[in-house]
Amino acid sequence: MGTARTAQMQRAQHVLDQVFGYSEFRLNQQKVIECLLAGLDALVLMPTGGGKSLCYQIPALVLDGVCVVISPLIALMQDQVSALRQLGVKAAFLNSSQSLDEQDAVKRALSAGELDLLYLSPERLMTGAMLHMLERCKLALFAIDEAHCVSQWGHDFRKEYKQLSVLHQRFPGTPRLAVTATADERTREEIANELSLQNAQRFISSFDRPNIRYAISDEGNGREQLWQFVHNTHADNSGIIYCISRKKVDETAQWLCKKGRVALPYHAGMDSGMRQQNQSRFLREDGVIIVATIAFGMGIDKPDVRFVAHLNLPKSIESYYQETGRAGRDGEPASAWMHYAMSDVVMQRKWLEQSDGADTHKQVQHQKLDALLDLCEATLCRRQILLGYFGETLRDPCGNCDNCLHAPETWDATHEAQMVLSAIYRTGQRFGAVYVTDVLTGKQDQRITTNHHDQLQVFGMGEKHTAMQWRSILRQLMARNLIIADPDQHNGLRLTASARPILRGEQQILLRKLKRPSPKALKAAKTAKNRVPVDIQPEDAALWDALRAKRSALAREQGLPPYVIFHDATLRQLARDKPSRLEDLDAITGIGEKKRDRYGKAFLEVIAAFA
Ligand code: ADP
Ligand code: ZN
Repeated sequence: MGTARTAQMQRAQHVLDQVFGYSEFRLNQQKVIECLLAGLDALVLMPTGGGKSLCYQIPALVLDGVCVVISPLIALMQDQVSALRQLGVKAAFLNSSQSLDEQDAVKRALSAGELDLLYLSPERLMTGAMLHMLERCKLALFAIDEAHCVSQWGHDFRKEYKQLSVLHQRFPGTPRLAVTATADERTREEIANELSLQNAQRFISSFDRPNIRYAISDEGNGREQLWQFVHNTHADNSGIIYCISRKKVDETAQWLCKKGRVALPYHAGMDSGMRQQNQSRFLREDGVIIVATIAFGMGIDKPDVRFVAHLNLPKSIESYYQETGRAGRDGEPASAWMHYAMSDVVMQRKWLEQSDGADTHKQVQHQKLDALLDLCEATLCRRQILLGYFGETLRDPCGNCDNCLHAPETWDATHEAQMVLSAIYRTGQRFGAVYVTDVLTGKQDQRITTNHHDQLQVFGMGEKHTAMQWRSILRQLMARNLIIADPDQHNGLRLTASARPILRGEQQILLRKLKRPSPKALKAAKTAKNRVPVDIQPEDAALWDALRAKRSALAREQGLPPYVIFHDATLRQLARDKPSRLEDLDAITGIGEKKRDRYGKAFLEVIAAFA
């Protein structure tokens, strides 16, 4: 590297430290910044929360001229710009939500060379007037956010993104950066081709989200399990709960409110004003839970969502990863928790069967569901399976998923599986799980007698297990696609071709043991409320609360979300280190010069009051 280049990187390091208050670059940030400072184009793939924004925000401050950020999410521009202004960065946005006066003020600042960053929607950028105005400005770089929107095949396709290749022709000397969190190869190639970025350097990071703890279960009552999870591990954190239907969304939100949480519904059946209001409370208040259908989430940039819960099966591993990815963008510990039931599996298969569309499409969808069920039923590390699905190899088990933390016990269920399969077969492959279970456990039942199924050899053969255990076995067999519910037969259970080797005794089957948490473990879970982060001492809990209250108050005064003032990681370090002087704050993550001067005193006073 030449000396000029070295000096520029030193500037970048200085900006990271002084403006953003961070001591080290993350993932590929440093390399990307080097590339852009050298005047080259870059294509960057980083997982959600990886820190894509700094990749262009730092060059924007190091280079002369303005960095133009193209973002499809108008709703987010306001918060992004507010957050930058808090850091003393000269940032602005232009979009249709502003009055003409406001727009004129921004244009004047742009023309006068007073802006470091300007956020624009693609349609605004592509207007003749805007392009013309930019041609007369000194430009540092173009940053194309959410670059996967250029892909026809993705779900976020935006036709204006296709025109962005124009930038290459009209501004040949200005480096361009495209960033996305979408992993797959095909999208990557499309971005490069459509945006004329074939020569851009590529920076691809692992898609692992190590701070997210995955847990999946099908045991017990979903709602009760959810409450245990939310209450024990996220007593005053904000989170998102996904449900399959609007009705379930409304019921779950009400139920959580009765339990004392602030839980707000969000789905397409509500009027848009109400939806908007709930979303805004979720962003601006601490500890709010949003209960939503999948309609919620796109464009939610809240970094301190501490958990994402699914009360039903998501559609595929892709959706699961995208939805759970909304947890813990700030890199702090977060949870992805799922509970599903046999009825979910039945319903999804039924939808797939009934959906119109080519058979090949259906087949792909069935395969995707199977892959998801494999993940659900897995007895090994969830993260290895997840990353493996996206073509990445994680060598060792992660140590931060339910299976790694409490290895599920397995047992040889070949004999039981055979009993289930033959009970289904002998009763004519037309009865549901309850009936089959009753036959296995030898229940005295009018229907069974009328059908003469009490005469079958399997009748009562499964006495040694309870009905609940049989249900669990049935569920697992269904998840493995050995049996399916036939929608044409009132969801009667039917064997698939894969059941044959098991019936013939050619294949062994291992199932997960039904977990029965010991009474002791349950009790411990009930008393240990992790209201405060794990690494804060119990005696500092009150200080932690006071710091959060101060943050909320400061945020409310300015109409900003609390995380724009300080992230949780910053408050946590304040509670732990208890600094007493302004200059001590320079060592705290997330406190740069501007925030130290603006908020330092207020927070030091809180800490002093507890000393
Ligand atoms: P995304 O890749 O999802 O766009 P962001 O750019 O929003 O991620 O960054 C996620 C969070 O991580 C932000 O709150 C940001 O301030 C923080 N962050 C980014 N880079 C660093 C770093 N080098 N050190 C500490 N925190 C960082
Ligand atoms: Zn694991």
